[in-house]
Amino acid sequence: AQSGKGPNVQNLKIEGVHDIIAVASGKGGVGKSTTAVNLAVSLAEKCQLKIGLLDADVYGPSIPIMMKLHGKPEVSADKKMIPIENYGVKCMSMGSLVAESEALVWRGPMVMKALEQMTRGVDWGILDILVVDMPPGTGDAQISISQRLQLSGALIVSTPQDVALMDARRGVKMFSKVNVPILGIMENMSYFKCPNCSEPYYIFGKGGAQRTADEMGMKFLGEIPLEVGIRSGSDEGVPIVISNPDSFVSQAYANLAQNV
Ligand code: ADP
Repeated sequence: AQSGKGPNVQNLKIEGVHDIIAVASGKGGVGKSTTAVNLAVSLAEKCQLKIGLLDADVYGPSIPIMMKLHGKPEVSADKKMIPIENYGVKCMSMGSLVAESEALVWRGPMVMKALEQMTRGVDWGILDILVVDMPPGTGDAQISISQRLQLSGALIVSTPQDVALMDARRGVKMFSKVNVPILGIMENMSYFKCPNCSEPYYIFGKGGAQRTADEMGMKFLGEIPLEVGIRSGSDEGVPIVISNPDSFVSQAYANLAQNV
């Protein structure tokens, strides 16, 4: 593993960036990117902070679609990429740089090089927080990113399902190993509320993330239900915190923003 042994490991600060927090999950498809997007936009809109969003999910970048980003980043006079901004958030994603099929075949060192460019090769300006949408999983890539970016903290996203929680626990352990404080566990897809009778259905089980957080001595950061508006907001590039800011879900994301 190349973890932590890259060049300039001591010199890790990204110019102008105050704090870097990761949104991570042990497993793919649990809503990590959706959470990263709605958190970043809430931090910018509700908390009035200067926010960046880095899509470190190089093999499956979804930020350009979820944040409705068009075109490629421009390059400044001093050869730094200028992030594409939408909804008050400065974004950088591999999906804005190369065709998806190209990055898919990259091996580890190429990915790390690309991430280096997408962090220190970017003119972020002044940022209070850079939110990093991590690649799913808990392997070498995640460890390298955590060390190189000197994360201030990590937020773990999980569904209430046992297999997802098992991977979430692995994520907690991985971040602990590299001394990144865990901000807490956020449960996504907690339940589905029947539109006719308002009865909640706990499709993936009930209360799993809260229990896991308690067991591990972590903060539980709340639950987000399965909602059509969240999915359509992601697909259409208008996060639910923008399209429906007064909804229960948007309030839950605002609470999350206050808590991290
Ligand atoms: P990950 O980043 O963990 O792979 P995504 O954020 O890309 O997961 O979410 C996977 C899919 O599930 C996306 O199509 C997204 O729109 C959808 N999704 C995520 N969270 C919810 C939710 N709470 N309700 C409805 N759909 C969701």
